Amino acid sequence: MFGIWGHPDAARMTYYGLHSLQHRGQEGAGIVVTDGERLKGIKGDGLVNDVFDEKKLDSLKGNGAIGHVRYTGKSGIENIQPLLFHSSSGSLALSHSGNLINANDLKHQLEMQGSIFQTNTDTEVLAHLIKRSGYLATKDKVKNALSMVKGAYALIMMTENELIIAQDPNGLRPLSIGKVGDAYCVASETCAYDLIGAEYIRDVEPGELIIINDDGIHEERFSLSGSNAMCTMEYVYFSRPDSDIRGINIHTARKKLGKQLAIEANIEGDVVTGVPDSSISSAIGFAETAGIPYELGLIKNRYVGRTFIKPTQELREQGVKMKLSPVRRVVEGKRVIMVDDSIVRGTTSRRIVRMLKEAGATEVHVCISSPPMTNPCFYGIDVSTHEELIASNHSVEEIREIIGADSLTFLSVEGMMKVIGKDDLGKNCGQCMACFTGEYPTEIFPDTPLPYEKEMK
Ligand code: SF4
Repeated sequence: MFGIWGHPDAARMTYYGLHSLQHRGQEGAGIVVTDGERLKGIKGDGLVNDVFDEKKLDSLKGNGAIGHVRYTGKSGIENIQPLLFHSSSGSLALSHSGNLINANDLKHQLEMQGSIFQTNTDTEVLAHLIKRSGYLATKDKVKNALSMVKGAYALIMMTENELIIAQDPNGLRPLSIGKVGDAYCVASETCAYDLIGAEYIRDVEPGELIIINDDGIHEERFSLSGSNAMCTMEYVYFSRPDSDIRGINIHTARKKLGKQLAIEANIEGDVVTGVPDSSISSAIGFAETAGIPYELGLIKNRYVGRTFIKPTQELREQGVKMKLSPVRRVVEGKRVIMVDDSIVRGTTSRRIVRMLKEAGATEVHVCISSPPMTNPCFYGIDVSTHEELIASNHSVEEIREIIGADSLTFLSVEGMMKVIGKDDLGKNCGQCMACFTGEYPTEIFPDTPLPYEKEMK
């Protein structure tokens, strides 16, 4: 998500911001602008570049804009964000990162009271709650609505006259504020600021509500912060290496995870290689600590999207074949230590191990820079169901056999906490590790939708 207020070409800045955030979702993209009197939006399927061209950006005139790249969920243009609603009391646009865990329940209640839904998203529930609130000021309407929703939400909303930013009480998804000239901007990741020449100011705190309008920035709380629980997978896999979250640089965190993994694995090999892109930093850290050369053993075809977030298993499997190639000269006749960030279903790891062996590797030792993923995520990351998670149903030795590796090592939960449990200043920063430990930072409802089945009942 990206948002900006007080810039004469807000739509173009948002386009560039979304470009830097493209790794967070490739299924669709949208931008809504305000010229102070009305909101106008354009959205479509595919990459930011597929959806927007010069002409479309020129048609989006205004000083304020918000944008979104779509990660997962049911298809349909109506589900692509920002969602935009018009009513006699004014318009509202919403971008949401995360997953509302009591959305089915709230939707049912709203429908019983006469609400008609236009999309299948949990985000629309929030729009209805905001619009139905009896309060006059937008910030009070939003506060009232947020008191009813539970789960993970980093939100950027916009009316004709202001941006409204909120972070859930556990701070599960990253969100920060920056400044470019006199304009304020908001982004899911700090890498968006570099591209537009903005300066990072600070992270949005859990339970915080921020209003930005022509009078400046107004900061307050809508909730006491709960147990601080930033998503660990943001550090391990999801975010870009040049982003910082809660004072921790992603590349540095991954490198440290790799170093810790090398200590725990204590394994012999001739070369260390990382699965591009998210495991390169960990592989470099592993190689440094193990004293084994780091080599580029796998090459990524840059023009294919990320396999992990393609919506179906069939597409995922096709994607792997198109995406990676082994560097035969590097791996032939060598004992290869292959560092990857996670094993979800095991299919990708199996294919890569086979690929390396077919290219002549004598042994392939798989080292994973996170613990076994045994539980589904209800907070917006598609890590599948219990049944599909290989580590939920198999021991480490069984997984090793399934993926065809000569050895398999996962980072321990303790090792992971040692590395990313504190910020660069040594301050404790709480993390969500529920997909590894089963300890969810919020309550979970029996009908809580998983992120990939965000089509609501
Ligand atoms: S359950 Fe896992 S993927 Fe989901 S928010 Fe927590 S750490 Fe992140």
